[in-house]
Amino acid sequence: MKKGKLIIISAPSGCGKSTIIGDIMDRGELDLEFSVSATNRKPRPGEVDGVNYHFLSDQQFKDLIAEKAFVEYEQVYPGRYYGTLRSEIQNRVEQGHNVILDIDVHGGVNVREQFGDDAVSIFIAPPSIDELRRRLQNRGSDSPEAIEERVGRAEYEMSFRDKFDHVVTNDELPRAISAIERIITDFIA
Ligand code: 5GP
Repeated sequence: MKKGKLIIISAPSGCGKSTIIGDIMDRGELDLEFSVSATNRKPRPGEVDGVNYHFLSDQQFKDLIAEKAFVEYEQVYPGRYYGTLRSEIQNRVEQGHNVILDIDVHGGVNVREQFGDDAVSIFIAPPSIDELRRRLQNRGSDSPEAIEERVGRAEYEMSFRDKFDHVVTNDELPRAISAIERIITDFIA
């Protein structure tokens, strides 16, 4: 049976990544399954365990590291760990399903290297850092300090864009969505 492929999506927060991934998955035109990452951060309002993330305690996360359960994991923010579980991708790929991963730039580059031509990596860029700050402010879910932390992180993540197979700027949402759909369609064809 033909093996499935990995679609890696990385983007600074506030670039519309969750909206874009959600939209592409909801359309259901592409055979894509979402890799639910593990994290030790607390759920935000509306987030569901096992759907958005596997929400774990610090100890549970450490135990999984020791068990080598992760394909990759990173400390994305101080004290906050995120990781891709082998169990989220292995069986699905072997059964011929494509798996989409929403992970940070380090994870993205790492998984792309591990999986070689079985993976494609896409970086979603904001039109500008000022626009990103404005979007985070409008979203209203973070304190001013948290916004500056995210903007600082975004500037850092932007420096990785050249390490990705494709860069899509989210200047207009529908345009960015169709550009990404086209990349995925071409890749899994
Ligand atoms: P948030 O806390 O806003 O949901 O996510 C913060 C960052 O962690 C995002 O850039 C997201 O892509 C990244 N992230 C989520 N899951 C993983 C993962 O499994 N591995 C890595 N390396 N990054 C992840």
